[in-house]
Amino acid sequence: MRCPFCGNVDTQVKDSRPAEDHVAIRRRRFCPACGGRFTTYERVQLRDLVVIKTSGKREDFDRDKLERSIRIAMQKRPVEPERIDQMISGIVRRLESMGETDIPSKTIGAIVMETLARIDTVAYVRFASVYKNFQAADDFDKFVSELRPPVAEAE
Ligand SMILES: [Zn+2]
Repeated sequence: MRCPFCGNVDTQVKDSRPAEDHVAIRRRRFCPACGGRFTTYERVQLRDLVVIKTSGKREDFDRDKLERSIRIAMQKRPVEPERIDQMISGIVRRLESMGETDIPSKTIGAIVMETLARIDTVAYVRFASVYKNFQAADDFDKFVSELRPPVAEAE
């Protein structure tokens, strides 16, 4: 695995342990060239998903991209990072088990919003406002007024 700091490909695994309720293996890595430390996750990939954008353009599904957008929405929210990881894995599993390799970006957006709505209303509004690309403030106000209060998790 290439070091993200210096580009050296000869990095070492210092520690491996199950993560996200054994859905992933988390590895702590060390780069002998620059002393950098980083973490990688190994996961089962059931199928290669392709995202069909609204324009009709096809694009390989990028878990990191999904994760970035969710983390931006979750910024400074009182939700454990581990919980966010679980949520992202759950979304990906849902997509992978839909039985189709081609998934419209709209479907992914809807699943993310549905998941966020259950976990954190603020993150949901943030994500939805970007995702739905609300131009007019009126639309956004209407959207917010239609939000339901978050449902408590039964855990
Ligand atoms: Zn390095």
